[in-house]
Amino acid sequence: MKIAIIGGGIGGLTLALALRKEGHEAVVHERTAQFGRVGADINLTPNAVRALDPLGVGEHLRTEAARPRFRISRDGYTGEETSRLPMSDAAEEAYGAPQLTIHRADLLDALEAAVGSDAVHLGHGLESCEVTDDGVSLRFADGSTDDADVVVGADGIHSAVRRSLLGEEHPEFTGTVAYRAVLPTERVAHLPGIDCFTKFWGKDRYTQIVTFPLTRGEETFVFATEHRESWSQESWTTPGRIEDLRAAYADFHEDARALLDACDDVLISALYVRDPLTTWGRGGATLIGDAAHPMMPFMAQGAGQAIEDAVVLARCLSVHGAPEGLRRYEALRQERTAQIQVGSRGNEWLKAGGNADWVYGYDAWEVTL
Ligand SMILES: Cc1cc2nc3c(=O)[nH]c(=O)nc-3n(C[C@H](O)[C@H](O)[C@H](O)COP(=O)(O)OP(=O)(O)OC[C@H]3O[C@@H](n4cnc5c(N)ncnc54)[C@H](O)[C@@H]3O)c2cc1C
Repeated sequence: MKIAIIGGGIGGLTLALALRKEGHEAVVHERTAQFGRVGADINLTPNAVRALDPLGVGEHLRTEAARPRFRISRDGYTGEETSRLPMSDAAEEAYGAPQLTIHRADLLDALEAAVGSDAVHLGHGLESCEVTDDGVSLRFADGSTDDADVVVGADGIHSAVRRSLLGEEHPEFTGTVAYRAVLPTERVAHLPGIDCFTKFWGKDRYTQIVTFPLTRGEETFVFATEHRESWSQESWTTPGRIEDLRAAYADFHEDARALLDACDDVLISALYVRDPLTTWGRGGATLIGDAAHPMMPFMAQGAGQAIEDAVVLARCLSVHGAPEGLRRYEALRQERTAQIQVGSRGNEWLKAGGNADWVYGYDAWEVTL
């Protein structure tokens, strides 16, 4: 089976590893010419770590990541704690893996090292693809062409594979922009719970500050959102104005304000979503991750769901072949990812406690195919 993966992000590289474990080699076509240190945090909840562990990257992740002790919700204005969920060892006991919080670049490093450079074709962006009777034909931006029995669109929210399969439609701006910053933990080490995942909830779904440790606890990540009527720039590298952010949160509790005071630089990016889809593919083509189901970050499942998709897809292809395995994969993954897409938009996840088992307890290696 000749398999082409479009997109060497978190989902695409995980898929290459999961396919290898199942006895298949795939080529990853990645648009960017070289992997850079782009992005900030990735929150790997226990379901994501358990899916990654059998792929040989667990040790690498554990040496780079942090392990938050608790997942805490606090009222943004009074600072009062409204829920506390034990993570770390307790999560490992309950779900078979801990939560790991990691810089996106460190996660990609671990995946790239395991996949190996021979399997990744950098600077090779897909322009379009077409499902044929024999498989899928591919056309790249540099004018080259290829074909494959199976093509997987792991090419993110603006997926070219999705556009080719389903036609042009644009993701929807959610009225929310997100600020992200990474700072040395020593600046905020005096704050309570700095080794935990903490969310300060504001008056509406546009208002919140989230913080958690990265990089073995040596760095701290800060995320905050703001309402905007419109937004035209789409980028993961646009600098934001820290003064605007501090002003927007001037009425927040002092612990939350201290986090913003400690930030030098922030990046700003807009949050976009799409509604759940009922069709992810056709013939030898399918989608995984953000290409299939982009979601708001409020349940921290963007990476986790891409990773789960990759494992289930690799297993389905092994057991059922193509194209049957692709349709089986889609049927198995659509309900769960749609539920998380809708839940993330609602932005109430674990605000006042609740049971996280249905998300964290999912085992992509054990789901009945
Ligand atoms: C540069 C960048 C920075 C990010 N930073 C953060 C962050 O700080 N925090 C966070 O929570 N989430 C971040 N995300 C989003 C997060 O990584 C994803 O939501 C999630 O991991 C889902 O993974 P994915 O593999 O589906 O998509 P992505 O991780 O978005 O990967 C898609 C990959 O496909 C490539 N690609 C796109 N179009 C083409 C094409 N036509 N041909 C070939 N390759 C293509 C992209 O370059 C990218 O490498 C970032 C995404 C990107 C691309």
